[in-house]
Amino acid sequence: ECKEMHHNVSRFVAASNKYSVVRLSLMTELKSGIEKGQLQLNYQPKVDLKTGKIVSVESLVRWRHPEHGYIFPDEFIPLAEQTGNIRHLTHWAIEESIKQHLALKEHGFDIKMAINISAVDLIDLALPPFVANLLSKYQVEPNVLIFEVTESAIMADPEQAITALNMLRNMNIKLSIDDFGTGYSSMEQLKRTPVDELKIDKSFILDLSNNSDDMIIVKSITSLAHNLGLTIVAEGIENQETMAILADLGVETGQGYFMSKPLEAKLLKAWLMGNSG
Ligand code: C2E
Ligand code: CA
Ligand code: CA
Ligand code: CA
Repeated sequence: ECKEMHHNVSRFVAASNKYSVVRLSLMTELKSGIEKGQLQLNYQPKVDLKTGKIVSVESLVRWRHPEHGYIFPDEFIPLAEQTGNIRHLTHWAIEESIKQHLALKEHGFDIKMAINISAVDLIDLALPPFVANLLSKYQVEPNVLIFEVTESAIMADPEQAITALNMLRNMNIKLSIDDFGTGYSSMEQLKRTPVDELKIDKSFILDLSNNSDDMIIVKSITSLAHNLGLTIVAEGIENQETMAILADLGVETGQGYFMSKPLEAKLLKAWLMGNSG
């Protein structure tokens, strides 16, 4: 049941290497897997560290494969990016997240949806019009969506990334730099990148309460972000102490197993009801 905690010991990864036939054949099944409903999004809350209130959820994909079992994204997303299969998945994840937003709204919860967007999606000129179509089809405001793009995806081709991000931002979609601190972007680069928030990578957060180097890094990322007018999200908060340190540093938003692991839609609804009153 606690599948979310046993990420690193998946049988699937142990049984296959990066370029195995199993993995490649998995890619030929991805599109049909989506159509057959084998993929699902789990939703991990992001919480306002001042008020404790939920501000958004991040959509994280899982694959319930009929033969290989429960497969985590680290095991198929990189390959889907390399083989060009990621587009279907991204399109599906955006539509699914919009539907989930509307389902929660029916229960009185107005929750923003954060979606992971890969480097390959940023060079897809069809993405902005695709999103615009969905927003009008479902009558949803663009500021409901937050696109998380990793720092390394931006650094792979900064010119292209900035062009794509500008298009999305002009549509009023919120943008977040994911895994911030791991991708070597310069101040200059950051200043030119149209984003709303920085998401500090969990490698700096997991051991924050014991590690003074992490403390220095998190402090300086936070002041950098604030000086640039950006908000900060910290991911990978696993205990009360870390949450308190981050709140003291003025970090606006937090996410991690301490608040909640990623939840299936049904459990998210229950979590929201439990936290709302
Ligand atoms: P990410 O976007 O950096 O997501 C954070 C990962 O950290 C998630 O793993 C999440 O479950 C995990 N996590 C959350 N809180 C904690 C915590 O307190 N401690 C620890 N140790 N880990 C925590 P997950 O769901 O396995 O996703 C892994 C990566 O796969 C994501 O990293 C993201 O890059 C990618 N991914 C997931 N879903 C999608 C998707 O729909 N599209 C794309 N393109 N990528 C996705
Ligand atoms: Ca993310
Ligand atoms: Ca991250
Ligand atoms: Ca990551």
